[in-house]
Amino acid sequence: MIHIKISKTLEKKIRQGYPWIFHYQVQNEKVEGKLGDLAVVYDSKNKFLAIGLYDPESDIRLRILQTSNPVDIDSRFFEVRLNRALKLRENLFGEGTTGYRVINGENDGFPGLVLDRYEETVVLKLYTSAWVPYLDTLITLFKKKLSTQRCVLRRSRKVAALEGISKKYNEGHLLFGSKLEGPVHFKENGLDFEVDVIAGQKTGFYLDQRDNRQKVRLLSRGNSVLNVFSYTGAFSAYAFAGGASSVLEIDSNSFALAASRKNLRLCFSNRNFSVEEFSQMKADGFDALSKLELDNQEYDLVIVDPPAFAKRKKQTNVALNAYMKLAQAGAKVTKKGGILFAASCSVHVQPLSFFKAVFSGIQSTGRGYEEINRTSHAKDHPFIFSEGEYLKGVFCKIN
Ligand code: SAH
Repeated sequence: MIHIKISKTLEKKIRQGYPWIFHYQVQNEKVEGKLGDLAVVYDSKNKFLAIGLYDPESDIRLRILQTSNPVDIDSRFFEVRLNRALKLRENLFGEGTTGYRVINGENDGFPGLVLDRYEETVVLKLYTSAWVPYLDTLITLFKKKLSTQRCVLRRSRKVAALEGISKKYNEGHLLFGSKLEGPVHFKENGLDFEVDVIAGQKTGFYLDQRDNRQKVRLLSRGNSVLNVFSYTGAFSAYAFAGGASSVLEIDSNSFALAASRKNLRLCFSNRNFSVEEFSQMKADGFDALSKLELDNQEYDLVIVDPPAFAKRKKQTNVALNAYMKLAQAGAKVTKKGGILFAASCSVHVQPLSFFKAVFSGIQSTGRGYEEINRTSHAKDHPFIFSEGEYLKGVFCKIN
């Protein structure tokens, strides 16, 4: 087994539950280890500190599985973890919600691994190929503990080395179960959606926004809604379910816009939306907002939920500026007394910095605002460290 040396400062952090050791924090001169090996970290008194998964190709060199007492990393170990994750979600959802996150990576003790469930299909998403040697164990476990028809594998774009290990573990590979015959159907808060678990973003759907969508539903009665960065239209469906008078969606991806139209038909099969009620713009979000402002368009409820602007730490300031500009543009097309909901899913943007950027964006328009509430992920996305708290949202009344 590999031994990893780290500094005393980092030792303290790991003891407190921080789950990552970056490549520049490894103090060994050379580490002889391969992808997926288990690596042990000893503290300065030469006592066991942690054990984790080694990934020589990732900036995050070690993902911690266990701290304080040494244990065997075997199927029993993973079963205990999975049981804990399942227990946490046991009473979260009624019959109306069949899509939710079963394992939220490091926050559920499976660092770099996410498992989302869409009714009878589970999607396993890997953020490190260090999990590949453990896939057989996990598959056996999922078959035993989750009554599911199939499990599909997805991998983060960063995990490019997978092919080197085995071609069979490619994007969209069926790990077990019956072959997929098109998109997967599931329910969220009583609404019907379809998700493309193979080609869709993340695992196909943004399950983390579920609670914010419920808030949007409650705020929508009789209101005109602008949904910027609408993806497959989940916020729009909730808005109509809450009685919105109209929804305009903006997204740059035509597949997402088409999927959104389909989801709307699924949710409201008896309704024919007129163009006054429902329309879409395939455009850049910033450009479209400027155009709407130039055309003097205003909405009762404006949603801006863009993709992550800061994919790397050094992009944080650029990202904050973009969030500020987006809140500014959003506020400009919000009616007096209307509501702006702004969200950020950038790991590298801290919640307080994001909220400040949004508020200064609104203020820069010369409009006043009242904060209604700050939000985070839905409960099936627990977090144990600050990087785990990636989703920030804020509802503001614009005066
Ligand atoms: N609000 C959505 C998730 C948004 S994900 C939901 O609840 O499901 C971000 C979306 O922004 C994606 O659909 C992506 O296609 C879109 N996007 C990315 N860059 C964009 C841009 N510059 N202008 C408009 N849309 C963009």
